Amino acid sequence: MKLAVIGAGYVGLTTAACLAELRQTVVCADIDSHRIARLRRGEIPIYEPGLDRLVTANMARHRLSFSDAPPSASAEADAVFIAVGTPSAANGEIDLSFVEQAGRQIAPMLKPNAVVVVKSTVPSGACRQLREIIAEARGALDFSVACNPEFLREGSAVEDFLRPDRIVIGTDDAHAEALLRSIYAPFSRRGVPIVATTPANAELIKYAANAFLALKIGFINDVANLCEVVGGNVAAVAQGIGLDRRIGWAFLNAGPGFGGSCFPKDTRGLAATGRRFDAPQPLIEALVAANEQRKRTMVSRLLRELPGAGAPVAVLGLGFKGGTSDIREALSLDIIPALLEAKADVRVHDPLIGPEILRRFPGVDSFESPFMAASEAEVVAILTDDEAYRRLDLARLRRAMAGRTLVDFRNLLDPEAVAEHDFRYISIGRPIADAGEPKRQSRRRHAASRPEVSLTLISTQ
Ligand code: NAD
Repeated sequence: MKLAVIGAGYVGLTTAACLAELRQTVVCADIDSHRIARLRRGEIPIYEPGLDRLVTANMARHRLSFSDAPPSASAEADAVFIAVGTPSAANGEIDLSFVEQAGRQIAPMLKPNAVVVVKSTVPSGACRQLREIIAEARGALDFSVACNPEFLREGSAVEDFLRPDRIVIGTDDAHAEALLRSIYAPFSRRGVPIVATTPANAELIKYAANAFLALKIGFINDVANLCEVVGGNVAAVAQGIGLDRRIGWAFLNAGPGFGGSCFPKDTRGLAATGRRFDAPQPLIEALVAANEQRKRTMVSRLLRELPGAGAPVAVLGLGFKGGTSDIREALSLDIIPALLEAKADVRVHDPLIGPEILRRFPGVDSFESPFMAASEAEVVAILTDDEAYRRLDLARLRRAMAGRTLVDFRNLLDPEAVAEHDFRYISIGRPIADAGEPKRQSRRRHAASRPEVSLTLISTQ
């Protein structure tokens, strides 16, 4: 079968490479010609384990090619997957302009009977709207539209795509359903359930799934707040909850609040959809507000630890989580500007972030190792759950630092192991561990008192 994928981002590129791996012939198109030029040279613009191998192998087999012209890339396709961004608009509604633009671009070129497959996460009614937009631009209704939401996670996108828990196909058209069932036959043969349903249900399944996972995170973060004041330990509470099979372990790690390109915008999107259709979603509205407040609380928690203006602070992890180079709605986007405003000397480390991303953080020095970033630092803050930070050599870290404060926003470290190295250790939903109280003098002198700081969070919406 000949397929086109519109959008070469996390979802589009992964979808294109994996469909080629499933022996389809795929053209992946993006309006970002720089990105396409890099892909044609075999350079992968995002970090995803295994993606580079799939892309190069399938290019060599002539099953995967790249185009910066979405219309012509779609001309011969039996199915065109739309995987462009659907960011939040200012009011929390989903901005569908990229999806609509892609629809208008491909409309005149579609083969008769082509299936337009919406992989992007879109709110209720968007697939019906897209069908109308394409029909108007094309002047005919000889195509069909299906909603086929994607559930992959960044950092394990290839693995998630190739080993899905389920495939959701939302369409009212028998031809579209049959075509998608045949594309995903290698999965259904392995027993992966196919949920064939209406477009309206498919659209909601994606939002409801993400909102439910985000609720679990928000819930355990609230429990962590309670642990901090009653002397509990959120890890023990989460274990006690997670062993209940009705609840499960997943998404019960307390942390600094969720970020990334999906949970924040999808929870805002679901809340906005509820408002639009006059079916309020009070749980999700509260979750959105609580998550935003949580990030502000995390910023002040760190600022409280600064000994004075000019204090060197090492920030470990810039991505929205470990294992990804994506910084959309990452904690670093809140923490770093606040540290700079507090006149801290900010040094950063992230194993996956390159010069393009670092340009987003002017006034910040980047280092090749966490220990170099932590050299002479008063405070070290771990922002992501990168494996390298879980395995930090604590003795070496402590020797490198001038101060002794370690703020672990991901609960990666074992408080007892940390205590052996004389840190003041602040984590989430667990008691502060400070064997060295009363506070010892730092080896370095900074401005005598802490500067007056005002919290300015940059808006990442
Ligand atoms: P992304 O920002 O990484 O990629 C989007 C790409 O689309 C960009 O390269 C952009 O240049 C391109 N694009 C925009 N308009 C275009 C057009 N008219 N024609 C061709 N290309 C165009 O986005 P993403 O993270 O891959 O997300 C895509 C969609 O998938 C979103 O709706 C998102 O919510 C959803 N999704 C994302 C994830 C994830 O983990 N990133 C997971 C599941 C679902």
